Amino acid sequence: MDAIPGRHPAPAAALGTEGPPLLRAEALTRRFGAATVLDGLDLEIRHGEFFALLGGSGSGKSTLLRLIAGFDAPDSGRLLLEGRDLAGLPPQHRPVNMMFQAYALFPHLSVFDNVAYGLRREGVRGAALARRVDEALALVGLEGLARRRPHALSGGQRQRVALARSLVKRPRLLLLDEPLGALDAGLRERTGFELRALQRRLAEAQGTAFVMVTHDQEEALSLADRVGVMQGGRLVQVDTPEALYERPATRFVAGFLGGAN
Ligand code: ADP
Ligand code: MG
Repeated sequence: MDAIPGRHPAPAAALGTEGPPLLRAEALTRRFGAATVLDGLDLEIRHGEFFALLGGSGSGKSTLLRLIAGFDAPDSGRLLLEGRDLAGLPPQHRPVNMMFQAYALFPHLSVFDNVAYGLRREGVRGAALARRVDEALALVGLEGLARRRPHALSGGQRQRVALARSLVKRPRLLLLDEPLGALDAGLRERTGFELRALQRRLAEAQGTAFVMVTHDQEEALSLADRVGVMQGGRLVQVDTPEALYERPATRFVAGFLGGAN
């Protein structure tokens, strides 16, 4: 079908639809005071997929990513990565990386040193370090810009440095919280498709999955293999863009997708 502009589904063979999922969330609950922000949420992320988490402001999207990354812990429920319970595992020991917005780059460090930062802290040095950083910069198409400082880059290039800084750790799962939010409309669409292409290359090379948060339904439907729609701390529907678009499970989903039904 081509009702969704710019949509190019991944070949089914590229997705890990067989065997155990990469990530499984079971009855995940998180409360802040009287507010239940995640309300017994269940979710499975497959190896190599591009998953979009779509929902309105305050629906719990960022909270869910923070739990997966390990910056916060659930009040109840479990998170399993390839069957391993993540409880108590600190963020730096999880094969998961959260991409922060480009403004979090170190302004006084070169592109190379920004990307190398996390690996240096792990004790990676010399040729091994250079190889990993070069690999990450090549993945995002910034090979020639390693010596620049962030201020000498465009907004889109800074975004790619932030991506390279996440990818250099070779995560199994990359979490992106509204990565395109700060970009203007034209750049936003182009960067979205670049992100999609990058995810495909990573999925083939090492099975990396992306979970991207967005409140933009067009972005979710055109980029993702599957979309989860969040409302009030729960996933109200998880499906392919085609199925969501054609068969929204609730009026809320239909309304959120722009009244497709
Ligand atoms: P989203 O990313 O979908 O916009 P969030 O996960 O950031 O939503 O937040 C969901 C709800 O939880 C919001 O009402 C927010 O105010 C609340 N919340 C998030 N983090 C905290 C916190 N650390 N303390 C108190 N309330 C929080
Ligand atoms: Mg958020």
